[in-house]
Amino acid sequence: MRPAILNPLFTEVASVKGIGDKLARLFAKLLRGDELQPARLVDVLFHLPTHVTDRRFRCSISQLPQSGIATLEVVIGKHKPPPRGTRLPYKIVVHDDTGQMSLVFFAAHGEQMLRQFPEGQRRLISGEVSWFGTEAQISHPDYVLRLEEADKMPDLEPVYPLTAGLSGKVFVKAVAAALEKIPYLDEWQDAAWIKSRSWIGFDAALHTQHVPVVAGEVSALTPNRMRLAYDELLANQLALTLVRKHMKRSKGRALGSNGKLRAAIIAGLPYSLTQAQQVSLGEIYADMAAPQRMIRLLQGDVGSGKTVVGLLALCTAVEAGAQGTIMAPTEILARQHFEGLSKLVGHTHLRVALLTGREKGKPREQVLAQLASGEIDILIGTHALFQEGVEFRDLGLVVIDEQHRFGVHQRLALQSKGGDVDLLVMTATPIPRTLALTVYGDMDVSRLTEKPAGRQPIDTRVMPMSRIDDVIAGLGRSMASGARAYWVCPLVEDSELVDLAAAQTRFEALTKIYPGKVGLVHGRMKGAEKDAVMAAFKSGALALLVATTVIEVGVDVPEASIMVIENAERYGLAQLHQLRGRVGRGAAKSSCILLYQEPLGEVARERLSTMRETEDGFLIAEVDLKLRGAGEMLGTAQSGLPLFRLADLTQHADLLVVAHDDAELIMATDAGLTSARGLALRQLLYLFERESAVRLLSSG
Ligand code: ADP
Ligand code: MG
Repeated sequence: MRPAILNPLFTEVASVKGIGDKLARLFAKLLRGDELQPARLVDVLFHLPTHVTDRRFRCSISQLPQSGIATLEVVIGKHKPPPRGTRLPYKIVVHDDTGQMSLVFFAAHGEQMLRQFPEGQRRLISGEVSWFGTEAQISHPDYVLRLEEADKMPDLEPVYPLTAGLSGKVFVKAVAAALEKIPYLDEWQDAAWIKSRSWIGFDAALHTQHVPVVAGEVSALTPNRMRLAYDELLANQLALTLVRKHMKRSKGRALGSNGKLRAAIIAGLPYSLTQAQQVSLGEIYADMAAPQRMIRLLQGDVGSGKTVVGLLALCTAVEAGAQGTIMAPTEILARQHFEGLSKLVGHTHLRVALLTGREKGKPREQVLAQLASGEIDILIGTHALFQEGVEFRDLGLVVIDEQHRFGVHQRLALQSKGGDVDLLVMTATPIPRTLALTVYGDMDVSRLTEKPAGRQPIDTRVMPMSRIDDVIAGLGRSMASGARAYWVCPLVEDSELVDLAAAQTRFEALTKIYPGKVGLVHGRMKGAEKDAVMAAFKSGALALLVATTVIEVGVDVPEASIMVIENAERYGLAQLHQLRGRVGRGAAKSSCILLYQEPLGEVARERLSTMRETEDGFLIAEVDLKLRGAGEMLGTAQSGLPLFRLADLTQHADLLVVAHDDAELIMATDAGLTSARGLALRQLLYLFERESAVRLLSSG
């Protein structure tokens, strides 16, 4: 349970005077990404300002700058309401000894203005200066105060990212309430480290961000911000290290086998394994045979041949007498694995089954029953696998495919699932080391560093939409000589239905030109229809497959050699790389055409030229990280919430590496967190809501 001393920080924002239900919902939306998850004071404290408005610049009207924030004392003059029925602003002329200027208000209420700005009175005003010809203006001043109220305006005002309907003033009110609730907490950082960095305490550092006294205080690389970032990173690393140590300690089982079955399967492959596949398999077999639990990540760029590695690992588990399962992120992919594996093991005694959201009723029950009785050796499926009611007789190995598609929380939940099951996670996302650390701690990693021999580079071209007719004509020529192509339709934000409409329209247009040759797949399609279209494309009955991004992940039709991506400017780099990875899988020369809508923004331009210049997934990931920031890259963007609140991995990556080492050291010297620092670290974990890690401590 959370230590009582922290409870005040976890009270809801609605408890602050002046914050009612409606505002509380806005806080929830802003801070928790969900109106129904109440924001707590700690969320307010961890929402840091992005910059500071400096109101210290005082001047007279004649000295007003061209732009920027100014604060000045004026006398209210004439009101100039807009003529009725117009949308013109309401103006109030104000003056001092040196000249006059206007305050400007849009959609103002006349009577209220007269009450708020009585002619002849003195006011202190502060706001952003602009000019209308030769006349200075401040529209909607941030402050209009009677002189005796001057202390209501801070010299330095933190500016927070907010949401519509929630004003900075309300937010600051919540911050003030939250700051008061910070209890006295023992220092959890190592004394020497803090000293070497000249860091101040957690509580004081938070104050400097929310109540800045120096204008430059609020930016990523100031010592105070870095201290806070480090606190968060250490909590993250410590929690991951605890989870990992716990899993390692938890008894695994030895899944050893004589390798006969694998050898038979490998002998049946139409190709020989690459060196990298063999090395990775060696590492995996060794882990599986050892009595500890395996927690291994298999990283390999698209097309590097991860699937067969995963499947051979599963066969090994079966040969050792256990069951295995592989989870894929989409149904199409699960089916593809099912077919691939069925073919692979056709000449053996292995029994393979499929379970996705589509299997219902009797067939589903039958699979579940056979799974429980051990009649099924390997189960392939989607996340439906981890729902209730799915019980194995004796599960030995879990393989997760294309795992960057699963959220961080699902991953952690899965990893901390009890039992002695070995875990192999496969991903094409070549996550930079810093990011890998935040998500996996130091999971063991195998890498497929080479692609199967004989692959040719993909010829990538970037073209404006205006040349679409040329592209369509070119496709026709290629199809006439036997080529197969994908055509991926525009991604329209947040609306599967609109995506669908675009794909449907493109499908119809292309069908008119190439009747009988074009197929369509999309996410809303009934499963069986989807299968039929995919099968027709695989067999070559259809030459052109129009698709929404359902084909993004993992689809494998080696004969396809052309990829057209419409509105390529709307996709992220990782996604483009995944999509392009659908071609270039066979021996034929492949090409990828990225069609973009003009005008092209700067970031989109950089993405497309990166795609044209390289096929190197690592390089692409690095550029991606630079362009998008870390949260999105890890797939946390779905929830709208960043992985970290105080740390910014594009700025604090070096601190992350230190935090990782720090966590290791803590584990080596005080694994139970029982020393004085250890106890303080427990509070740190609770503060950042890593309590599941603390629980592992007590369970031993
Ligand atoms: P990914 O790593 O993207 O999941 P896949 O496992 O889908 O890649 O493999 C891509 C293609 O390469 C498949 O058609 C697969 O059959 C083929 N492949 C895998 N290993 C080899 C190999 N050693 N030699 C030749 N082709 C291979
Ligand atoms: Mg794959």
